[in-house]
Amino acid sequence: MVARVNLTFEEMWEKIIACDSKYDGLFFTAVKTTKIYCRPSCRSRKPKKVNVEFFHDIHEVEKAGYRACKRCQPKSDHAPHIELVRKVISFLVNQYKQKLELQDIADHAGVSAYYLERQFKQATSETPRSYLEKIRIDKAAHLLKNTDRTNLEICYEVGFQTPSNFYKVFRRLRNCSPSEYRALIREEKQH
Ligand SMILES: [Zn+2]
Repeated sequence: MVARVNLTFEEMWEKIIACDSKYDGLFFTAVKTTKIYCRPSCRSRKPKKVNVEFFHDIHEVEKAGYRACKRCQPKSDHAPHIELVRKVISFLVNQYKQKLELQDIADHAGVSAYYLERQFKQATSETPRSYLEKIRIDKAAHLLKNTDRTNLEICYEVGFQTPSNFYKVFRRLRNCSPSEYRALIREEKQH
């Protein structure tokens, strides 16, 4: 059983607007007007926010009478190894604040670190560690956009141990500093 991911409506909305495939399988976007449900990464035209509801479980969304989107095929990744990967990703999304070593993640999943890393890489082309960094930077971007917390507060809030590492990883993934990102987003909001 995969744990529900701890994401707010607003965070899930940001991820579907970004067509972010990192969160595929963790939740589903259901559109009340069309009765169709999608993966977060679906490239179809985005629904209106008021018409969207999110589901964490594919059985629940089906039970509610929604049909799978033909374009993004949200049903198609239910192979057993994907179940393991999904379990790990939802663990990372929920525990990103903690200091997590590969072994902690493997222990949670009940497999060896070697097996985990191999399966994870095969499914996502990433290591659990690089995936976790991306989740942390998504959280940081969300906080920069929606709160007045300082860069330093956000650094620790999202699970980085040192500001220098936070700035380095943020720049690598977003091509700007946290302060530049915040300024950019504020400017966009005003237009
Ligand atoms: Zn779709």
